[in-house]
This record gives sequence, C-alpha cells and structure tokens, in this order.
Amino acid sequence: MGDLLLFLPRRYEDLRRPVTPAEALPGRRCLVEGSAGRPSPMMGRRGMRYPVTGGGGTMWVFVFGPRPMVPQPGERVLLYGPVRTSPLGPCMANPKLLDRSSPLLGRIVPVYPSSRALPSWWMRNLILSALERTSQDPPEDPIPEEIRFRRSLPDLVGSLREIHWPSSGASWREARRRLAYQELLLLQACFALRRRMRPLGAAPAAPAREADVEEYASSLPFRPTRSQESCMRAIAQAFNRGRFDLLLQGDVGSGKTAVALFAAHLYLKRGRSVLFLSPTEILARQTFQVARRLLPDFKVELVTGDTRADASPGPGLYVGTSALLFRKALGEASALAIVDEQQRFGVSQRAALTRGGRMSLLMVSATPIPRTMALALYGDLEVLTLGESPPGRGRVTTMSMGPRGLGRVLDRLVGELERGGRAFWVCPSLEAGPSAAVSRHRQLCESLGWANPQLVHGRMPSEEKEAAVLRFREGSSRLLVGTTVLEVGIDVPDATVMVVEGADMLGLSQLHQLRGRVGRGGSDGLCVLLSSREPVPQRLKALEELSDGFKVAELDLAERGPGTLHHLSQHGDMGLKVADLSRDLELLEAAREDAASLVEEWAIHGELLREVRCRFPGIMEILGGG
Ligand code: ADP
Ligand code: MG
Repeated sequence: MGDLLLFLPRRYEDLRRPVTPAEALPGRRCLVEGSAGRPSPMMGRRGMRYPVTGGGGTMWVFVFGPRPMVPQPGERVLLYGPVRTSPLGPCMANPKLLDRSSPLLGRIVPVYPSSRALPSWWMRNLILSALERTSQDPPEDPIPEEIRFRRSLPDLVGSLREIHWPSSGASWREARRRLAYQELLLLQACFALRRRMRPLGAAPAAPAREADVEEYASSLPFRPTRSQESCMRAIAQAFNRGRFDLLLQGDVGSGKTAVALFAAHLYLKRGRSVLFLSPTEILARQTFQVARRLLPDFKVELVTGDTRADASPGPGLYVGTSALLFRKALGEASALAIVDEQQRFGVSQRAALTRGGRMSLLMVSATPIPRTMALALYGDLEVLTLGESPPGRGRVTTMSMGPRGLGRVLDRLVGELERGGRAFWVCPSLEAGPSAAVSRHRQLCESLGWANPQLVHGRMPSEEKEAAVLRFREGSSRLLVGTTVLEVGIDVPDATVMVVEGADMLGLSQLHQLRGRVGRGGSDGLCVLLSSREPVPQRLKALEELSDGFKVAELDLAERGPGTLHHLSQHGDMGLKVADLSRDLELLEAAREDAASLVEEWAIHGELLREVRCRFPGIMEILGGG
C-alpha cells in the first residue's frame, strides 16, 4: 500500500444535500441552493453582492475582486462556503459556485493540504485514481482476519475509500479507527519483534548488590531521597537481569542526574565504558562537571564538536553532545548509553547511539510521558519515576502578565537583584534566532549594568557561552539573558527569578521546564510569564495554579497534541499519520495485546512484516538490520 493513500484530507466538504437559504446556519459550512436576485455594487469595496432566496429566507452573497462573477437574476445557484452573519442577515463571502452537473455533488468531498504547486483538486484526482487501482487489485490486508473480526474492524480497501470519500460520519469514524489501529499494530509488532530478537544478554558476572547502592549513596554530597534510592535499586535489579531499557522520569529538579550516574557507576566499576548524551553543549559541560565530582574514581571525558576525535579511548564515562554519535570507536566500546532530556532526541538518534540496541539504554526525561506516549514510543520499556523532590526547596510563585507588565517586572527584578538574588531572562524568538535576546541583553546592560548581565544563545562560540554561564554560576554576574537554550537542565541553585518573554509562544511543558530552573537552593522563587499579547491567554493563567509537571504535561497533550512532548520528526519516524496518541489509548492497548500474541504464535504473516519493514526503517535499525 503506497504512502499516497495515507496522505489524508485536511477536512471534508459535505456536498450531499443542499439546504435552502432559510436553513443556512451562520457558523457552519453549507451547501446552499436558491434563486439569485439582482446584483448591486458593494459600498466602499470592489465587488458585487446579490441575494439568494428560497424556503422563505434570504442569504446574501458577497463577491470581492475587480471582476466579480455573478449569476443572472432568477438563475438557480448552488453555493458552498462558510455562512456568516452580516447586518443584512446570513451571508457568504466568495463562496464556491458549483456546477449543477459537478460529479462532486451528492458526496462528502475531501480537501487535501495544498500548496500552489500541489493544489487540492490535483491531489484529489491523484488519490482518486490510486483508490481505483487499489480497488481493482486489492493489496493483502496487514491486519489478520481473525483480529479484524475480533476487534470489529472494517477491511483495508473499504477503509481507505471511506477515509478519503466518506459515505457518512459513522463509517468515516470506523475507517479512521481501523487505520489508526493498523498503524499502532505495526508499531507494536516492531516492539514485540524486538523483544523476541533481542534477548536480554547474559547476566553480569559480578552482579550489583545492595552494597553498590549504599557505597554510591554515601559518596554523594547530599542524602539521596527515598525516590532516588528506590530508582537506584530498580536500576541495579535491571542491571542484574542483563541488558536493559529504562526510562527515568521525574519533575525538573528531582535529582535525576545523580540517579543516572549511579547506572554509569555500575558499569564503570566493572571496567566498562558509558556514554552520556546531552542535548546542548551548556548542559554537557555542566553534567561533565557534576560527573567528575560524583565519580571521582573514574575517567570522565567531555566530547563536543570541538573535541579532537583521537581523544583517548579506554574505559570511562564520555559526556557529550550529539558529537558522541560520530565516535564509532567509543560506541563500540561502551555498554550503556544514557540519554539526558531524551525528549529532545529522535528515535533514529537514539538507535544510532545504542548501535541498534546492542547496549543498555537509560533515557532520562523531565517531561513526564503519559502512559500512551510511553507505550507508543518505546513499547515495553520499564519506567522509573522520581516521585519526590529533594527537601528544602523553595516555593516558586508563577505570575503571568501582558506586554504592559514589563515595567513592573523590571522593578521587581531590581529589588530581587539588590537583595542578592540571581535571575534568568529568556527571550524566545520565532525563528529560534538570537536577535530578541541580543537586543534585550543590550537594554538590560544599559539599565542594570551593575548586575553584569550575560548573554547566551545557540549561535555563540562555545567558549563564550561557557564563560557567560560560568560568570553567572559563580555570581560575578547576577543576570543571564538567553534564548530557550536555557530551558534544559541548567542547574544554578542560587537563581531565584525566571522571566520568560513571549511566553504565549511556548508550550506549557517548556514553560514548566524554564520555571524549574529557579527556587532550587532553598529560597523562594519567582517566575514571570510575559505574554506578547493581551489578554493573557488562559493557558498561561492555568500555569499559575499548576505546579505538578505531570499535570502540566497532560494539559499540554490535551491542548496541543503529542507534537509538544516529542519532536515532530520523531512522530515522523514513528509513522503515525492517523492515530492520535492523545485519544487512542484504548486502541493502542488493543494493538499492543494483539501484537504480543501474534509474535508469540509466530503468526506475524508476510504482509504485516513487510509493512513493518517499509514503514519503520528506523525501528528495523533498532532491531539490528532487520
Ligand atoms: P534534574 O532532575 O532536573 O535533572 P538535577 O539532577 O540537575 O535535577 O538536580 C537538581 C539539583 O538538586 C542539583 O543541584 C543536585 O545537586 C541537587 N540534588 C539532587 N539530589 C539531591 C538530594 N537528594 N538532596 C539535595 N539536593 C539534591
Ligand atoms: Mg537534568
């Protein structure tokens, strides 16, 4: 089945039955049939207007433009478009004027995402002929008949026809359900196959013991929380079973780094190497420093784009950015890969890091992943959750305000800085370019020069970035201005204020991450969300009340769909075009169950496997070549 047939309509136009102008409801798209009245020029604008009557009602049609097409008075017309209200009554602006003999009439017609080069009607014709070919020569259905029957799913060809040219809302829903299920089944079949083809490997010769946990815990500069300890024990258990796939999640500031480094510790102690992948260079440097402190007995190296490629191999912990992915020799010598802030990486990057899954993987995430997402994205992955944060944290107050609040924010900021606080100031910009941050930094230097404001953004040379963060960390600077590079992982316990400009352009989870940068050192924190427009969107207000990262993630998922939690490209990798992870939990569970039993019975038949291969090449890579 070609991808073409999974190029789905953006919306549909219901051209089944025309209504009279009396029945045309404002706020809806309608097909209206009636008799055209005398046209008259429009006042103040180029164009004509004419009434259409029928069923005892009148609707007005506005046709804008220098050469408006208007029907003869008395002609019967068929119009399609959104009905709006106007002082004259219900109206349509520039509606489609349909030919009575149009083959589209009487049907629900798909409208495809279009561009000037690829207009929707062209896609429509292309897909229509692909559908015809498919009907004449139906492909084998990747969903086994027995499952189709048990789950009451319609057949493949019929579903494809319905998703493009629905005969009714109900049959469209059935078709969508089937196609979504199919995607999820394929994906889950991948995971089930992976489990079968990639056994755990041998248990370690020197298993981890309780003493390992205790030794590591007592070497830490703080007392681990109970959550941290239980996650470490779970890691030790997984280690003893052989190769593992774990996801460690916990809210910002819950102390995930120390736990992740425990996993590294287990391997390092046994003479194995470990890779630690960070999403940004600033974060890689920070983790490198922390790791050197927490693992003083082992070799710890930093690998960034600037590091020489011939840096000495040999057992050790290698902390770095995606530059790590290009160090083949390091990868081959390593037994564990840790991916920090894993939501920042795509499936294929993770697969490359673990060399197709031949080493253990510990993913660390501060954006809690709802169960649906975890199942869909990773199949059976053990999830460890840090449920509590270290004690002695301050409370963070969140305030949202409109652009006019800027002056008040500055006043507050001056107060905080004079009292000895330290602040982050984040300026997101649409193009991810540094310009907004650069000019804000310049301004703040003028008004708050004594605080020695520093600037960081993604396009600065890395030594400059490092120097700026260092000055802020040490306290010789009290204000760090930057782009959203500040979002992930930065840990400066003395920072108490976070100002986010253009907060309305960021996702809720992202804002929660930013807010998590302050109030870590025991003093209370303040987070100001500056909206670039009035009124301040409700979602920013909602964040004032919400402090639990899980709740924020759920709200985010409901509001903006799964794309907010994970890289869009990652969803591309997953090949999900129909399934909607925020809605299809039940389907996903069903697909997971079915995939497991199919693999168990070796009943994955040819077509299913072929589809898995062609749809998820990235996943097959994880399987080890497939
Ligand atoms: P995150 O979970 O966001 O990655 P980090 O691992 O960076 O958080 O930890 C945040 C801060 O909390 C660090 O300064 C770390 O040293 C500190 N920390 C971690 N665990 C504890 C603990 N059990 N007690 C006190 N401080 C801790
Ligand atoms: Mg972290």
